[in-house]
Formats: sequence, structure tokens, C-alpha cells
Amino acid sequence: MANILITGKTQLLGVIGHPVEHSLSPVMHNAAIAQLGLDYIYLPFPIEPENLEIAIAGFAAIDVVGFSVTIPHKQAILPLLSEITPIAQAIGAVNTVSRKNHQWVGTNTDIEGFITPLQTTYHQDWSQQVAVILGNGGAARAVVAGCHQLGFAKIHVVGRNMQKLQEFRNSWGNSPPAKNLQVHTWDALIKLIPQANLLVNTTPIGMHPKVNESPLSAEEIKKLPPGAIAYDLIYIPKPTQFLQQAQQQGAIAIDGLEMLVQQGLAALKIWLQQETLPVDVMRQALRNHLGLG
Ligand code: NAP
Repeated sequence: MANILITGKTQLLGVIGHPVEHSLSPVMHNAAIAQLGLDYIYLPFPIEPENLEIAIAGFAAIDVVGFSVTIPHKQAILPLLSEITPIAQAIGAVNTVSRKNHQWVGTNTDIEGFITPLQTTYHQDWSQQVAVILGNGGAARAVVAGCHQLGFAKIHVVGRNMQKLQEFRNSWGNSPPAKNLQVHTWDALIKLIPQANLLVNTTPIGMHPKVNESPLSAEEIKKLPPGAIAYDLIYIPKPTQFLQQAQQQGAIAIDGLEMLVQQGLAALKIWLQQETLPVDVMRQALRNHLGLG
């Protein structure tokens, strides 16, 4: 990897979160910056919730170009922004902030991150297809919006808590994704899985260190139809137990690493105002960092 040289003109990018030390974003963004030979640096900023407002004001004062937003600030940052893109409004969360005319603009690149691996790998007409999404948290919102954008006929969201599921359903109001969206408790899976052309895990079940766990039982996964796509948002381990089980059933597997790369790529395009970026370098930097070679 090329080196980054800090000068008197170096421009600042970064990620805010709490905790933030496990973020993989600095690895991939600094790899791209170094490859492009740009005078930028991308840093981790651990910011406690009570310091969010003052931190964002400080970022404006020191001319930060843009930053990523992770847990717990994805919703809390909304009132501190001058503009929120329709896509971020639809999800109700911001993961990317940029500076435009001395004002902060928030957007969400998780939708693009989620759909790009589907679009680039599988050129399908999704209009007759059924998506089943496990989990109803923050990432599930981007997945629902992404499935809607791809044109899925039906989008089923499955969770463990009916009250949270109903809140999730109601939060979409009459917005376009709400039209084809249904929510179910976990016991509905046995009838939903046979219909699933796309099955997405947005729960943390199976994430390192609990690598032997899976959101689905062996019996449930056996109901997956031939040719289905199994997509796990988790990127450590790669692949998860869920993806291994699905592959054994003949499903096509997509893991969370490519989503991570693609949401980062979309953010970097916004900050650098540059369409052509070294995505292979970003992906490889992450793979090296995770010991995937
Ligand atoms: P979140 O907001 O906390 O949502 C997690 C969801 O999983 C909730 O609906 C929760 O249910 C459900 N859940 C958790 N444990 C469960 C269990 N034991 N059984 C059944 N359901 C369970 O988290 P998030 O931000 O959506 O992130 C979810 C996952 O996606 C994480 O693993 C994260 O690393 C990954 N992710 C990856 C990318 C990427 O770029 N690859 C991007 C974003 C997120 P309740 O609502 O009932 O609590």
C-alpha cells in the first residue's frame, strides 16, 4: 500500500461512533486515498452521545470535509444536519455526512451498499420475486428500502417482538416501500422460507465470536427453494454458519463484506466528488486486515 503523507493542507475525513475502535472504515478509506495520492486522511473519532453536538460544531470549525456515522449516532445526528436526503429520510438514519455550502448534508449509503452486490452479480428482474428479511433493526431498514428499489413484489420482515415489528411497519407510513411490506413473527418462517427468492440475515446471530450460531434451524434452511440467494450482512466470519447452511442447500451466498465495501465506496464518491475510485484496493485492504488474503 502506498503511504499517506500529512502536510499543512491535508484534508480531514473520519468516522464518528462510540465505540469506534473496531471500525474497518479507516482501513479501506485510507487505502483508497493512498492509492489516489490525495492529500486527505480518514480518522476514527470516538464521540460519546452527550458530546455529539459540540463535536459536529468542532468539525465545522476545522473544516472537516465529511464523515461516516455509526452506532449510536445514526439517528441522533438528524437534528444537527441542515439537509437530509430523501433516502436517509426514508430509512430514518444517516451513515454519511458531507459539507455543502458550509452546511452539513446527511445521506445513507447502506441501500447502495446492499443492492450493488445483487445488481452486479445477478442481473435479474426482481419484479416477481419475494424477499424475506430476518430482523427489524437499523440495517433491516436499509434492506427494505433496497428491496423496494430493486422492485421486489413482496417484502416480508421477520422478527421476534410483535410490538417492535408493528412499530417498524408503521414507521414506513404510506411511503412507497410500505406498499409491499408485511411483518411476521419468527414462527411464520416455516411457511415464508419456501417462497423466498432472497433471504437476508440482518440480525447479529452468527457474528464473531458466536460463529456456530445461525438465525435458522437446519430444518428451516432446508425449505429454501433452489436458486435462492442467501445474503448475510455479517462480515466476520466470512462465510457465516447461515451462509454455509444455505450454500449446502444450493443457494447463492453473498456476505456482508461487499456491502461494507460498496457503502464505503458510495460515501467516498460523495466526499471526493469523484466517480472513479479504486474499489479493488479498498476491498483488498479490508481482506488483508481481516486476514482473508
Ligand atoms: P440492530 O439495529 O441492533 O438490529 C438487530 C436486529 O436483530 C433487531 O431486530 C433484533 O431484534 C434482532 N436480533 C438480535 N438478536 C437476535 C436474536 N438472538 N434473535 C432474533 N433476533 C435478534 O443492528 P443493525 O444495525 O441493524 O445491525 C445488524 C447486523 O447487520 C449487525 O451484525 C451488523 O454488523 C450488520 N451490518 C452490516 C453492514 C454491512 O455493511 N455489511 C451494515 C450494517 C449492519 P429486536 O428488535 O427484537 O431486538
